Amino acid sequence: MDARVSSKIQDVFEEPACEHNQNKSAKEKKKGCTKQLSPGAAAGGCAFDGAKIALQPIVDVAHLVHGPIACEGNSWDNRTSFSSSATLYRTGFTTDINELDVIYGGEKRLFKSVREIVEKYNPPAVFVYQTCVTALIGDDIEAVCKKATEKFGTPVIPVNSPGFVGPKNLGNKLGGEALLDYVIGTAEPEYTTPYDINIIGEYNLSGELWQIKPLLDALGVRILSCISGDAKYKEVAYSHRARASMMVCSKSMINIARKMEERYDIPFFEGSFYGIGDMSETLREIARLLIQKGAPEELRDRTEALIAVEEKRAFERIASFRSRLEGKKVLLITGGVKSWSVVAALQEAGLEVVGTSVKKSTKEDKEKIMELMGQDAHMIDDMTPREMYKMLRDAQADIMLSGGRSQFIALKAKMPWLDINQERHHAYAGYEGMVKLVEEIDKALYNPIWEQVRRLAPWETEPTPLVKPEPEPAAAPVAAQAA
Ligand code: SF4
Repeated sequence: MDARVSSKIQDVFEEPACEHNQNKSAKEKKKGCTKQLSPGAAAGGCAFDGAKIALQPIVDVAHLVHGPIACEGNSWDNRTSFSSSATLYRTGFTTDINELDVIYGGEKRLFKSVREIVEKYNPPAVFVYQTCVTALIGDDIEAVCKKATEKFGTPVIPVNSPGFVGPKNLGNKLGGEALLDYVIGTAEPEYTTPYDINIIGEYNLSGELWQIKPLLDALGVRILSCISGDAKYKEVAYSHRARASMMVCSKSMINIARKMEERYDIPFFEGSFYGIGDMSETLREIARLLIQKGAPEELRDRTEALIAVEEKRAFERIASFRSRLEGKKVLLITGGVKSWSVVAALQEAGLEVVGTSVKKSTKEDKEKIMELMGQDAHMIDDMTPREMYKMLRDAQADIMLSGGRSQFIALKAKMPWLDINQERHHAYAGYEGMVKLVEEIDKALYNPIWEQVRRLAPWETEPTPLVKPEPEPAAAPVAAQAA
């Protein structure tokens, strides 16, 4: 492995703010996410995919994948990250290397591709993503990007996170390292205010950032840079001038938040936009950090006044659903910060969470779940599809909230399902998002289709078992019986 990539990975593992890695033994740390993926395991996302997911929401830059076309095909536009202006981020660029490039090297092809992009699209920057094959043949993307930057006068940013170095989560952080090394601190904003913040780890999925922005606008708080949802290149470049940062997901880009604190004295906190209580806490924390960094004290009172108005409005809107949802049981298969932040949100709507998955959750996430659901919280480390199916089929849960991959389990059990992971098509952030989530749960639960699909087919007298019964043990041969 390239020595620069290995030292970056070690650096990410030493991340003092990442408790997950800090809790590991020296041996485990060394092994860490650098462990080789078994064939097919990259389906959940390789390190390249992770870096692309983290950076692709920067909307006005060209994202060029240096590798075989399948890598770009695998990662193109697989999230619903919205843009308010530029659309270049949704164009798939790849060097599409072939067998000859593998023999002779792909650096020239990469340089030519950057030239073509700059000439045709003139973007503010080109991000070049390393992949397995080009890393294995030894293409030096750093050197090519440096040369291209000098030649074309456009920043060409190397993102050295080939798929084989580890899983998606490591790739998120390596993507963050590319921003820290080549982008952040390279430009200056036209002006600054005492109310400038960064939001780190928010990808504007289905436009969730736009559910938060009006609240911050009402307080006069400016999002100087969102890393990376709906971001412009220059906004990321001058993000080092913010007064405070919010980390949206503790596991994706904590290295950016922590290193910006160290380098530029920008304090950060970890918060969530999911759920009424969590949204209010987030607004309070933003106000607290800004005041700590010199914003006027009156911001605190204005924040409390806004929270009071917004909470009242949201609860009033949710109240109309509460009577229909009270006591309905939810199986929550997600992970990370959502394993608890969504729990709080659902409880606010009167729903009972009968289980929440904690496979990707940190120790703190688990503590928060216990705080919300009590010591007996049903935390699921890893639930097999068969177990999920059984829970739904036996009506231990009325609805499952999860990612797209488990939707067919719910459909097979003829039970409602709602997508709350990255591919979701509805925005669930802030007060507005909470109302939307409740509305969507209500729609899913009371959809008349369930009554129809659960009916017996005209030729059935009893429901067809969806799981094949175990075969009966073969009868012993007659001779053996006689003996
Ligand atoms: S970078 Fe490697 S693991 Fe990832 S999609 Fe490309 S070939 Fe597959």
